[in-house]
Amino acid sequence: MFEFIDNVRRYLMQQQDLFGNIIYKDEKGIKERESPAAFEQYADEQWASCGSIDELNTEIKTCLKCPLGHTRTNFVYGVGNPKAEIMFIGEAPGADEDAQGEPFVGKAGQLLNKILAAIELKRDEVYICNILKCRPPNNRDPDPIEMGTCTPYLYKQIDLIKPKFIICLGRIAGQWLLKTNDSLTSLRGKIYEFRGAKLIITYHPAALLRNPNWKYPAWEDLKMFRKKYEEMNGK
Ligand code: URA
Repeated sequence: MFEFIDNVRRYLMQQQDLFGNIIYKDEKGIKERESPAAFEQYADEQWASCGSIDELNTEIKTCLKCPLGHTRTNFVYGVGNPKAEIMFIGEAPGADEDAQGEPFVGKAGQLLNKILAAIELKRDEVYICNILKCRPPNNRDPDPIEMGTCTPYLYKQIDLIKPKFIICLGRIAGQWLLKTNDSLTSLRGKIYEFRGAKLIITYHPAALLRNPNWKYPAWEDLKMFRKKYEEMNGK
């Protein structure tokens, strides 16, 4: 089993750089990088041409591209309104999410529900998902290989939902999507452009549970989001 996992990992490592960009070699051995906007290299995979968020789930929920597929209980795809204007992106499912097949249903999820209420949103009017669809064992941080393998699915979700706003929950999701190593402190408080949406990065609810003092700066982030969102909607 461990040897199998190592082989899969080695195979994936040959094909991805540190940030998970797919690298391939042509006959001359020249390396090229994937364009994150393009799904051409997945053209022979059914999911890449899916036209709806439900169809995409059906196509990818049996994914075994990385070792986490072999240890998960449930594939944790995403939940909410397929036409949501606002999308929340976390890191990876935890034990509760793995058991129930839905993102943010544990303690961090309960706090996320309260955060949503504070900014006058309901869980079923936004869309909630993670960078990874499968739980990393023992809640360890996702590794770049896993994130690189799963990210094309997330990009496809974003492209199908076409949110106006993306709220990244936590440093890991924010750094990964913006392809930077900058600290959460320096990433917060700014509005970025990402795949046709505005994007902000704030604290992960689990971090807020560990350190309730961070709720104050998180609230500043959420107020900044709310103000910009209302401006975008002409309010
Ligand atoms: N933490 C996450 O990042 N995502 C979840 O779905 C649950 C906890």
